[in-house]
Amino acid sequence: MKRDTRLVVLLLLVVGCSLASLTVWKVLASREQVLRDVNVHGLNLTQALATYTEGIVRQSSALLLGLVERLETEGSGPPQIQRLSKLIHRQEPLMPQLSGVTIYDNQGRWLMSSNRPIPAGANSSDRAYFIHHRDDPSRETFIGPPIQSRSNQEWVITLSRRFNDSRGEFAGVVAVTLGIENFLRLFGKIDVGQEGAIGLSNTDGTLLVRYPFREQDMGRNFSKSPIYAKYLVDRTAGTASFTSSLDGVERLYAFRKSDQLPVITTVALGKREALAAWRMEALLSTVVVAGLLGLTALIGCFLILDIRRRTEVEGQLRGAQQQLLSSNRQLELLAMKDPLTGLANRRCFDESLATEARRAQRANASLVLMMIDIDYFKLFNDSLGHVAGDACLQAVGRILEECVRRPSDLVARYGGEEMGVIMPDTDSDGARIVAQHILSRLEQENIAHVSSPLGRVSVSIGIAAATGAELNHLQGLIEAADQALYIAKASGRNQFAEAKV
Ligand code: GH3
Ligand code: MG
Ligand code: MG
Repeated sequence: MKRDTRLVVLLLLVVGCSLASLTVWKVLASREQVLRDVNVHGLNLTQALATYTEGIVRQSSALLLGLVERLETEGSGPPQIQRLSKLIHRQEPLMPQLSGVTIYDNQGRWLMSSNRPIPAGANSSDRAYFIHHRDDPSRETFIGPPIQSRSNQEWVITLSRRFNDSRGEFAGVVAVTLGIENFLRLFGKIDVGQEGAIGLSNTDGTLLVRYPFREQDMGRNFSKSPIYAKYLVDRTAGTASFTSSLDGVERLYAFRKSDQLPVITTVALGKREALAAWRMEALLSTVVVAGLLGLTALIGCFLILDIRRRTEVEGQLRGAQQQLLSSNRQLELLAMKDPLTGLANRRCFDESLATEARRAQRANASLVLMMIDIDYFKLFNDSLGHVAGDACLQAVGRILEECVRRPSDLVARYGGEEMGVIMPDTDSDGARIVAQHILSRLEQENIAHVSSPLGRVSVSIGIAAATGAELNHLQGLIEAADQALYIAKASGRNQFAEAKV
C-alpha cells in the first residue's frame, strides 16, 4: 500500500473507531441515566405511598386505641357494646377506607360488627389476628395477613388490638378491616406501565396488597425474595433489578420500609418497558452512526481508488517521461554518431575540438589533432565496389578506435574516407607513438587493396600539436594537420607527418 493510501486508511480507522466508541459510550451512559431516573422516581413514589399507608394505619390505630380504652374501662357488656356501636357509626363516615369494625370476646365470638348483623354462632377464633392477640400479651396494633371476608368475599386487611379485663387477662379483640379496594383504586391511578406493579407487604414478607390485583397472590409470603432476603437486611430503602418470582417479568424495584410500621412499600417498573424509549433512541443513534460510518467508508474507498488511479497515472507518466528521456539521449547520441562507421560524426568532432581546445587553453596543456586519410581509396572503390569500400571504412574505423584508447580521446569521421582524432593532454611524442601504432595495426590487419602499390589498405596521417595560446585560432590547427597529411601523402603515403602550428 502506498503512503497516501495508508494515511487515508489510518484516518478512516481513527474517525470510525472514535465515532463508534463515542456512540457506544453515549448509548450506555444514557441507559445508566434512564435507570437512575427510574430508581429516583420509584423511591419518591414509595415515599408518597408509604406516607399514605401510614396515615390510614395510624388513623385506624387511634380508633382501635379509643375502643380498647373504653372496653377496658367500661367493660364489654351489651349496653357498653351498643354505645360503642353508635360511636363507631358516627366515626365511620370520617374514615371512608374503613370496611368495618368487629369486637370479639376472649373465645372469638362476635360481640359487635359495624357493617352487618352478627351471624348466629359466628366465631373467628381461627383467624390469625385472634390467635396472635390471644397468645401474645402485647398491646400493640397487629397488622394481619389479608383475608377474604366470609360474608361478602371482599379482600381485607385487618388491624387489631387486644383488650384485657380488669384482672389483666385476655378479654377479647377489636379489629378494623380495610378493604384493599381503596388501596387498589389509588395504586391504579399511578402510571406504572403494562408491566409495572405496586405492592404493600408486611416486614415478614406477607403480601398485603398488590396492584395489579391477582387473587392467587393474596397472602403469599415473599420473605425469600431478594428484597427481603438481601436488600432490606441492612437498609430501609433501596432499588434493585431482578426477575419477579410471581410472573417472571424483569423489573426495576424501588422499596421502602416504613420507619413507624412493619410495612414495606414496593414500586416496580418493567425493565423492558422502562428502557423502551432509550432502546428506540439507541437504535436511532446506531442507525445514524452506522450510516455515517458507511458513508465515510464509501468516501474513503473512492478516495483510495482515486489516489491509486492517480498514482498509477503518475507512474505511467513517469515511465513515459523516462522513456522519452532515454529516447532523447539515444537521439542525441545518434545525432552525434556517424551511421556507417559508428564513430563520432563531424558535428561531434567540431564540438569536441572546440571544447578540448578551450580546456587545453585554460590548463595550458597540449592538444593533438590527427587527420587520417585512406590511401588510394577511390581506386579501392573502383576495383571492389562501394559496398566493400564501406566495409573497409568500418574496418579502418574499428582499428583507429582500438589504437586510440584513452577515454578523453575522440575518433571521428571528418568526411568521406577522412578521419580526425582529437587527443587532449597529448604532445607530439605521444601523437607519433599513436600514429605509428595505427600504421602497424593496419599492416598487421592486411586488408587487401589490389590497386595500392602495397597490395593492402594503408593510411596517411597528418599530425598537428598545439599548446595554450596556439589554440586561439582553431582553424589553424586543422589546416596544420591537413598540411601535414598532404606532406605524408606527397612523401609516399602509409606514413605520418608532423606540422608546426
Ligand atoms: P589519395 O591516396 O590521394 O587519398 O587517393 P584517394 O583515391 O583516396 O583520393 P580521394 O581522397 O580523392 O578519394 C576519395 C574517395 O573516397 C572518393 C570516394 O569515392 C571515396 N569515398 C568517400 N566517401 C566514401 C564512402 O562513404 N564510401 C565509399 N565506399 N567510398 C567513399
Ligand atoms: Mg580523401
Ligand atoms: Mg584518400
